[in-house]
Amino acid sequence: MAHPPSGRIRRTAPVNSGVMGWVYRVCFDRPIRTAAPRQHWPRHYTGWTEHEVTSRMAAHEDGTGSRLFALAAEQGIGWKVVATEYGDRNRERQMKQRSASRSCPRCRAERQAGTSAKPLLLTESAA
Ligand SMILES: [Zn+2]
Repeated sequence: MAHPPSGRIRRTAPVNSGVMGWVYRVCFDRPIRTAAPRQHWPRHYTGWTEHEVTSRMAAHEDGTGSRLFALAAEQGIGWKVVATEYGDRNRERQMKQRSASRSCPRCRAERQAGTSAKPLLLTESAA
């Protein structure tokens, strides 16, 4: 059976291309275990998609998205999209530079409720 020519749509656009899309931030239920020291385990993921965030999320769910989501699935960690914003990849970069745990509404609510005793300052990986 002949394979059709690749009709895949490019999922990412280079920074400064001016292509608009959606910047989204995901908050995991708990930090994801990685090879890094525990205090660097990521709990948030900021990404960008030219397409509907929901379709990008479906890709994350079936493991074809970011590796972080595959790890989360392996570790039985759920997640939630906590923010979406219309913008280009520069905006994604800005969002990545900001402290996710500080600006995350879900983590903020947890902190205010005092349900989450965080002994360590959680920082976002600069990936
Ligand atoms: Zn959060």
